[in-house]
Amino acid sequence: MRLIDLSQPIFHTAPNCPAHPMVKSEVTSSHGKAVWCWETLTLASHTGSHIDAPLHKIAGGMPIDEMPLEGFLGSAYLADLRGIEPQGKITPELLSAALPAELPEDSIILMATGWGDIRERTSKWLYQSPRLTPACAEWLVAKKARGLGVAHWGIGGWDGSNDAAVHTILLGNGIWIVEELHIPEEVYALPMPQTFMALPINLKGHSGAWCRPVLML
Ligand SMILES: [Zn+2]
Repeated sequence: MRLIDLSQPIFHTAPNCPAHPMVKSEVTSSHGKAVWCWETLTLASHTGSHIDAPLHKIAGGMPIDEMPLEGFLGSAYLADLRGIEPQGKITPELLSAALPAELPEDSIILMATGWGDIRERTSKWLYQSPRLTPACAEWLVAKKARGLGVAHWGIGGWDGSNDAAVHTILLGNGIWIVEELHIPEEVYALPMPQTFMALPINLKGHSGAWCRPVLML
C-alpha cells in the first residue's frame, strides 16, 4: 500500500486562519543544553489539517472524541476546482460539475481549489478564498455526503455569516469537515474514488482536532 499525504505542515508562525492565534512552536529543551529535545506548541484546535466536530458550530453537538473512528475512513472523490476566482462561490452547479453525475451516498468530497498551493500569509490566502454557498451545503446534505474537505483554512471563506451558515448546515446534518488539506499534483491524475483516511487526535470533549489526512492507494 502507498499513502499520499494530504496534510499541511505545522511549524512556528505557520499560516493559519486569521481569527485564530499565531502558531507558536518553541523548543523548550534541546540537545546541547539538555539531554532531551522537545517543543511546546501554542495553536488553536482548528489550525493545520484538522477535523471539525458538530460541537464546533452546534451548541451541545458531539465532540471530536465521541465520533466513531470508522467514519473517517471512506471513499473519496476529488473535485478539481482549480481556476476558481478569489472569493469565487462554490455553488451546487460548480461542485456537481466536478463530480460524477451519480455521486454515491456516503461519499467524502475533497474540494481542490488550488488554495492549498498558495499557503502563505498573503491577503489572497487569508481573506480571498473561494467559499461554499449555503445552497451547496444543502446539496451535499441531499446527496447524503459523509464528509467534506477543502484545501484551505476554511470552507466558507472570510465572510462570517456565510461561514457560519455552511458549517451549521453540514455539521448540523452529521457531515464532518476536514480543513487545511494540501492536494499534491499527482492526486489530480488518479481515478476516483480513492480511499481517504484522517484520524483525529483524541482531544476529550473538544470541538475539533488535528489529523493526518491521507489517500490510501
Ligand atoms: Zn475547523
